[in-house]
Amino acid sequence: MRLSLIVPCYNEADNVQPFQEAVIAAFEDCGYDYEIIFINDGSKDATLYRLKKLHSAQKCPVKVISLSRNFGKEAGLYAGLQHASGDYISLIDADLQQRPEIVRDMVRILDEQPDCDVVAAYQDRRGEGKILSFLKKSFYAIINRISHVEIRSDASDFRTFRRSVRDSILEMGEYHRFSKGIFGWVGYDTCFIPYTACKRNSGTTKWSFKKLFNYALEGIIGFSTAPLRLATYLGIISAIAAVIYLVFVILEKLIRGIDIPGYATIIVLLLFFGSTQLFCIGIIGEYVGKIFEQSKDRPIYIAKEILGYNMEQKEES
Ligand code: UDP
Ligand code: MG
Repeated sequence: MRLSLIVPCYNEADNVQPFQEAVIAAFEDCGYDYEIIFINDGSKDATLYRLKKLHSAQKCPVKVISLSRNFGKEAGLYAGLQHASGDYISLIDADLQQRPEIVRDMVRILDEQPDCDVVAAYQDRRGEGKILSFLKKSFYAIINRISHVEIRSDASDFRTFRRSVRDSILEMGEYHRFSKGIFGWVGYDTCFIPYTACKRNSGTTKWSFKKLFNYALEGIIGFSTAPLRLATYLGIISAIAAVIYLVFVILEKLIRGIDIPGYATIIVLLLFFGSTQLFCIGIIGEYVGKIFEQSKDRPIYIAKEILGYNMEQKEES
């Protein structure tokens, strides 16, 4: 198998068929051997039903991995990678915001440039609001500064890579998966090509602001220990400030005789140190939580049903 297209789907009932048609049209005249691996990520609409129809119609090789619930896009991608048999692997969304024709260009680059291991697409124009765009840029500036991985702010997880890259990604069995960090961490020579994200074919985005914020936090916790160091620095700074203030209070008592009862000062200090401590405990808690979840060693996803190319390959678990 030459190419595996991994397509995570969550409530994409109206998109999966147009997506498959777009792939067939894109690869029609080039003779590439490819498979589409759809991952039904616990969809609540008719996605699985439509995927099964595509599978039985067999217009092109289709695999369907149906997860037992919604595990999130990252887990879906991991499931897809595990089942990919292609020499090249492509990650692409089901909503046709990322055109399959671009995958063809990516494959061509990999064919022509043996030194290039990954072809990643970056958005040349972003269709989102100014505030969100500013927040995203700030997030990437921070994570690039405080972690050892290098992440390009405008690059998405729309990319095609060689099998060796897929093997390296699969070796990273972390439960909380932040794929942009994982791509950066595994390294390999990456070529970037521009693309313009189209409008969603049908439905709405699954990413609310809250989800994006939590994902960003996951990225920072997963790829940097700088927040823990921040807690240490805050502790050191407050300790130094406390010693200076102590000297000041003692001197004031020695020189002026009696100390002035400072209610406001006490309250301010109490609140300041109290909140700093809570903040630091919160940071530590985030890391402990991640250690706790990783130590349980739960599977990243559970596949309820896997449909291979032909019905004999049908498995159920
Ligand atoms: N997706 C998924 N599981 C989820 C959320 C999203 O598999 O829990 C899939 C979704 O079906 C789509 C892709 O991930 O194919 C990207 O999602 P979406 O289009 O909502 O994100 P956006 O393009 O707005 O960043
Ligand atoms: Mg989308």
